Amino acid sequence: MAKECSNNCSTAVIEIAGAGPAGLAAAIKLAQAGRKVHVHEASKEVGHRFGSHYQDFQGIENWTTEHDVLTEFKQLGLTTDFTAMPCNKGMAFDYKDRRYKIESDETLFYMVERGPGPNTLDTALLKQAQSLGVTIHFNSRLREINGDGIMAAGPKAADAISAGYHFKTDMQDGYWVICDDNLAPKGYSYLLIMNGVGTVKSCIFADLKRDKLYAERTVSAFERLLGLEMHEPKFHGGIGNFYIPDSAYAETHPIIGEQAGFQDTLWGFGMRLVISSGLLAAQSLLHNENYDQLWQKQLRPQMNASVVNRCLFGLMGNRGYGWFLRRQSQRNVREALRKQYQFSMLKRVLYPWAQHAYQSKRVVG
Ligand SMILES: Cc1cc2nc3c(=O)[nH]c(=O)nc-3n(C[C@H](O)[C@H](O)[C@H](O)COP(=O)(O)OP(=O)(O)OC[C@H]3O[C@@H](n4cnc5c(N)ncnc54)[C@H](O)[C@@H]3O)c2cc1C
Repeated sequence: MAKECSNNCSTAVIEIAGAGPAGLAAAIKLAQAGRKVHVHEASKEVGHRFGSHYQDFQGIENWTTEHDVLTEFKQLGLTTDFTAMPCNKGMAFDYKDRRYKIESDETLFYMVERGPGPNTLDTALLKQAQSLGVTIHFNSRLREINGDGIMAAGPKAADAISAGYHFKTDMQDGYWVICDDNLAPKGYSYLLIMNGVGTVKSCIFADLKRDKLYAERTVSAFERLLGLEMHEPKFHGGIGNFYIPDSAYAETHPIIGEQAGFQDTLWGFGMRLVISSGLLAAQSLLHNENYDQLWQKQLRPQMNASVVNRCLFGLMGNRGYGWFLRRQSQRNVREALRKQYQFSMLKRVLYPWAQHAYQSKRVVG
């Protein structure tokens, strides 16, 4: 439920629990409007869960809208002062080692660094927030918010796990994907390399207890297919939580990002969604609008489509992935994916089935 704004709204401190992309995006927007913001971060630094030893590499998807995501960030007043490698051409493999070209006429996604390092998305957002006067309290776990505030504490349950290695390498920049249930059940394996550093992971949506086994199988497969060379590899893994709530309020406080369950249920490309949710929550506080109405209108159609996509993808199995990759290799992938993420008439028909078939591990209550 939206909270009534009292007379001292513009001077009262707004507290935010969590300095991930969602929390920092909300803080930036609030500070730009002249509000006093305190962000509490339970860890000693931003991006801590991604930054053990080397930074993690992740992709900001650029396929759900016709316009470019980094242009959108600028228009929304968010920094783009982080390393972002445009990725168009890549390569995918199926379970029989068959190769499929991935081609897109415009950037399909931007490879970015995550973690506490100098060029990461997290550090760029932190610096922007601080330059606007936002106070960040590190090593501060916020348990309750008394005045105005936003919950942005990240995933609450594991619906997927992405596990593998960060490493140094002499290999060339690029991205590669394998769709094979023996390496990543109902998910995919990926290899991302930029400037002599790499991330190789198995992103699994089933059999979550055996994440390390799938990570090792993924490494072996990339060694066989591409001659993967890892120097000083360090294990890294993390969870993803995919859930569409009825309401994203905790009492009167908006819940944003993965704490609300906002994610791309198909493949876990959640960054853009969590940032959007942060901006919408800030808007709701600034203009006394109902946050539930805002995200339901702007984010929910895409999230609904991604639940349907997940259920269809989960049914495919190895042969189906081969068919899917062959189809994508004959298309402009960015455009094809944009259509896949639209909540089309067909997706609307399939949604009640998908809603029933897809069960998040999150305990609701
Ligand atoms: C291995 C891996 C690979 C991924 N790859 C991609 C990708 O390629 N593309 C993509 O778009 N997405 C990817 N994601 C998903 C993406 O990282 C998340 O969706 C995104 O980081 C969620 O942002 P958030 O701000 O909601 O939460 P988080 O980034 O988790 O930030 C939440 C923060 O809140 C802090 N916190 C928790 N509790 C409290 C508290 N009580 N008080 C104060 N602070 C608290 C935490 O320490 C944390 O720093 C990946 C995720 C993982 C794990």
